[in-house]
Amino acid sequence: MMFLGAPERVRQALVEYIVRGDRRASGVLGDFIAANSDRIRASRPVAGPLHTRGVSHDLSEILASVNAQYFGSLVGDVLITWGRRTRPQETKRVSIKLGSYSATERLIRVHPALDRHWVPRYFLSYIVFHELLHHVIPAVPGSLHPPALVQREREFRYYERALAWEQKNIGRLLRST
Ligand SMILES: [Zn+2]
Repeated sequence: MMFLGAPERVRQALVEYIVRGDRRASGVLGDFIAANSDRIRASRPVAGPLHTRGVSHDLSEILASVNAQYFGSLVGDVLITWGRRTRPQETKRVSIKLGSYSATERLIRVHPALDRHWVPRYFLSYIVFHELLHHVIPAVPGSLHPPALVQREREFRYYERALAWEQKNIGRLLRST
């Protein structure tokens, strides 16, 4: 899992290590694993029960299909629930955080405002895909969305359509919270 978002240099080292047992490659891998060890296991348990089956959309089903389509079902340890982000937002501007990912809990939260029949499934898939990318590609200092994440996001089949839908419907979503 950890290596899915690794830089080319590290993935190359993984190949060299597996194929040839290369010692220098082993060092590169060791450094990478040490730097990402917090991702091996959730560092705190999830508080409270998870709600995956909404009125209109089933998140565990969406997570499974996004995982299969874009990650070869390799993401095996991420949880999902309908819920609001627990930490308050820094800004007071009117906004809505439609999805969030907590690395310490390995938990994706999807805002309950999206559990509406008029919210298309591809849009929910896009939110889940984006949050899964946060799991695969960790934030770097100063950027929650490193270039690798921004680039991978465009692999989403309905990327432009999802962005357009959000722009068109954000007012409706805000009013329905
Ligand atoms: Zn994000």
